[in-house]
Amino acid sequence: MKKIVIAIDGHSSSGKSTMAKDLAREIGYTYIDTGAMYRAVTLYCLRQGWFEGDTLREEALRAVIDDLEITFHFNPSTGRADTYLNGEDVEQEIRTMAVAEKVSLVAALGFVRKALVAKQQAMGKEKGVVMDGRDIGTVVFPDAELKLFVTASQEVRARRRMEELRAKGTPVSFEEVLENVRKRDYLDSTRTEGPLRQADDALVLDNSDMTLAEQKAWVLEQYHRVVDV
Ligand code: C5P
Repeated sequence: MKKIVIAIDGHSSSGKSTMAKDLAREIGYTYIDTGAMYRAVTLYCLRQGWFEGDTLREEALRAVIDDLEITFHFNPSTGRADTYLNGEDVEQEIRTMAVAEKVSLVAALGFVRKALVAKQQAMGKEKGVVMDGRDIGTVVFPDAELKLFVTASQEVRARRRMEELRAKGTPVSFEEVLENVRKRDYLDSTRTEGPLRQADDALVLDNSDMTLAEQKAWVLEQYHRVVDV
């Protein structure tokens, strides 16, 4: 069967990673979480103490961006790939609110996007990948054979995110998470470099009122529509 590139873009906490991971597992493709890559760079900046409020020491980051090693390694205990930064497993740490609060600032920088987009293109050049992010169908793989754009209302997304964080033991309020979702939507869609935008040829899925099983069936149907020809 022919191998393709599947680009899944969409809003924060829209459930696109769950969908992308499930699909990749089902069809034997490699899943690449590009948000994790922007999060890893953000974590690095936080650890270096390069943020003062919302101001980042951009020049310091520019000097090292090409040397940061971001990789994914399969974790047998979870059955999923963990994100590594310079050889260290940072999967848990990149999912914290501290990182979520700063990641859109880092992701808006042109030199960061250029470096990460190049890594992503290299990871997908053999095809057989499901890549999720914000600019996969528009910038990273504009020729992807299947492009999906996933969204849900801000309230639904904030609730999902809050439940996810609470399940991990982080006590967050609904308002705090909703505010972060709104802020990231705004920053992600108004930046000049690689803004969050639906590709003209993307299929849109609003999953506000869908179950995971319905979503899974829908995405599988789209995959077969492209490869079974
Ligand atoms: O997908 P996730 O919410 O983990 O992404 C974290 C952040 O990384 C997003 O809010 C966005 O600012 C940035 N991002 C991006 N381009 C991508 C993937 C993520 O700008 N392809």
